[in-house]
Amino acid sequence: MQTIAERLNSARKGIQQAATNAHRPPNSVKLLAVSKTKPVSDIMDAYNAGQRLFGENYVQEGVEKTKELAHLSDIEWHMIGPIQSNKTKVVAEHFDWVQSVDREKIARRLNDQRPDNLAPLNVCIQLNIDDEDSKSGVKPEALDELVSFIQSQDKLMLRGLMAIPKANPTEEEQQRTFGKLKELFDHYHTSLSNFDTLSVGMSGDMVEAIENGSTMVRIGTAIFGKRN
Ligand SMILES: *Cc1c(COP(=O)(O)O)cnc(C)c1O
Repeated sequence: MQTIAERLNSARKGIQQAATNAHRPPNSVKLLAVSKTKPVSDIMDAYNAGQRLFGENYVQEGVEKTKELAHLSDIEWHMIGPIQSNKTKVVAEHFDWVQSVDREKIARRLNDQRPDNLAPLNVCIQLNIDDEDSKSGVKPEALDELVSFIQSQDKLMLRGLMAIPKANPTEEEQQRTFGKLKELFDHYHTSLSNFDTLSVGMSGDMVEAIENGSTMVRIGTAIFGKRN
């Protein structure tokens, strides 16, 4: 069986290769290691192999891990799961990024609850790019309004878009989805100064995402193994 360090290394090589094949600089795509449901010892294995960006989905589990590893101040913690409004305070206090902002109420609370001694919270808007009823995320037609609102909040820094494309697409559907995402990303990227992140691509669709302009892939299974 491969170790976490070995799998992390393969993921890094895969990302660099995919970027090179797409005529992009090899280091233009960041790797977010998604450690949800995995123990702190697994995070430490990845950390000791040089990984610094970690993603968590569940608020309580994520907050506990950030507290337990608070002495490792160079870890960048990303919340990537849905957030209920009664959980925004601990997220604003313990995370560096929130990629799953999909409505004004959550954005306003994160802004108001971000402690003054911390830098602005980095935020991505989660887009429901395939218009699926079962998924969270803002619909493309409501994106402009949420972008403007977040831009008006001084403790939030709008960094980009996050999306979870629908499962098992045909090749054509996948191209259409990635194309739409890239177009929306480019639109804001050219007009807003800190808007530099297109967070798309997971263990199963990383290569296609990178071909289509992803700047951050979120990889869980391929690094930490299957989840129960
Ligand atoms: C779990 C999860 C991932 C990682 O998925 P893998 O298939 O395990 O790589 C990425 N993004 C989000 C939002 C997730 O919930």
